[in-house]
Amino acid sequence: MSREEPTVSRDVHYVAPGSADGKHPPAHRAAKVTAIPDLNDPWTISVVVFNPTGLHFNLSVPYDETGQKPGTWHYPERKPNA
Ligand SMILES: [Zn+2]
Repeated sequence: MSREEPTVSRDVHYVAPGSADGKHPPAHRAAKVTAIPDLNDPWTISVVVFNPTGLHFNLSVPYDETGQKPGTWHYPERKPNA
């Protein structure tokens, strides 16, 4: 698994929060780095998220390697995630 600092255009996962009613559980979504807004904090990034039904732009996403925390990013797992 890569531990390199993220760079613009790299493919990552974004952990999308589920819906408040629980109908849609949190999910790992394909995302791409659009900017490193603060070079003093290179692990907090801007991304475009490729949801199945549309794009979502987020300007400030913190890193979380566990993949369990909604609203964070990580490098894609080698195996399908639950
Ligand atoms: Zn993932």
